[in-house]
Amino acid sequence: MTAEKNKIRVPFSYLDRQFADLDSYLSDLKEFVKTGDFTLGKPLVEFENRIAKLCQVKHAIGVGTGTDAIALVLKGLGVGPGDEVITTTNTFIATVGAIVQAGATPVFVDSEDGFVIDPDKIEAAITKKTKALLPVHYGGNVADLPKIMKIAAKHKLPVIEDACQAQGAAIDGKSVGSWGVAGCFSFHPLKNINVWSDGGMIVTNDDKLAKWLRLYRNHGLVGRDEVEIFGINCRFDATQAVIGNRLLNSFEKIIKIRLQNAAKYDKELSKIKGITVPKRRAGVQHTYHLYIVRAEKRDALLKYLIERGVEAKVHYPIPVHLQKAAKYLGYKKGDFPVCEKDCGQIITLPVHSYLTQEEIDYAIDCVRSFYSK
Ligand SMILES: *Cc1c(COP(=O)(O)O)cnc(C)c1O
Repeated sequence: MTAEKNKIRVPFSYLDRQFADLDSYLSDLKEFVKTGDFTLGKPLVEFENRIAKLCQVKHAIGVGTGTDAIALVLKGLGVGPGDEVITTTNTFIATVGAIVQAGATPVFVDSEDGFVIDPDKIEAAITKKTKALLPVHYGGNVADLPKIMKIAAKHKLPVIEDACQAQGAAIDGKSVGSWGVAGCFSFHPLKNINVWSDGGMIVTNDDKLAKWLRLYRNHGLVGRDEVEIFGINCRFDATQAVIGNRLLNSFEKIIKIRLQNAAKYDKELSKIKGITVPKRRAGVQHTYHLYIVRAEKRDALLKYLIERGVEAKVHYPIPVHLQKAAKYLGYKKGDFPVCEKDCGQIITLPVHSYLTQEEIDYAIDCVRSFYSK
């Protein structure tokens, strides 16, 4: 079967399919515009309450972006210049950018089989300067929170979860974002639950932190005329909350179909010599923001798939510690061998909930035919 023959395309982006039902979104927007409730308006309050409920926490605070969510939590916890924050080198650059934005120094730890931080390597990275642990639920897989929370308790460190890629993920039914002192989400157009621009959210059970975040994101204002602290303007746009609220109605369906698609990939790809499916930890609800496997002859496979209309990608070919931006931190090649090796082997296949079964089957057929050449 070739793409040329049957014209199948397996797209990575799903925005056109996700928002195909445009009229329902537009009619929500029409109603909203009439209210003029644009700044921290009612749709945002509703969106925050729904996210808090989904994450099983007391507070959700909407901010400008997922990156801001992380940086503001760090600042709210008093993490700044001279402090170290432990995170993983296998992440989207924003995690590390947020640590730097807060004025702190990122300290990296290698990843484990599922591409998330290796909990057994965290303690060796803790120093007197360490002020927080910042695990990333990479690709929708959940970092080993039970182990991480134990380490954090032993060293009296707060855990901040970068859950930007992991809406809906959980361990033993306990949602991401509810384990640490705070969880950070992104609603960037490429995330599982997304809006038409940017948006971020912090979830927490800590009343004091929540209060500070609500003040700080809105100029430190209490009411209209009183300023309690100097803050910034970093609000979640209420217009985007209108979009988010409608999309949230499909939340369970989106996650469920992603899980089904991933299960099908796991089953079929694990039979193919040349592909290694990572171990799936028991009790983890992985939400497959990214469906990643290890592949022999990765670059040739990537090219082969793209030529056949399967929009595979690599997340990411260069780990953060080897980026030009990270040079001042003094890391070198060989410091994180698991992640560095993965960078040459990993491949991401489209897994989103708007794919048809025919498209998934076709992507699997293409991988199979590559290795049987
Ligand atoms: C997307 C993402 C962020 C940042 O989110 P933005 O809303 O784009 O700022 C942070 N961390 C990870 C792991 C992400 O994937």
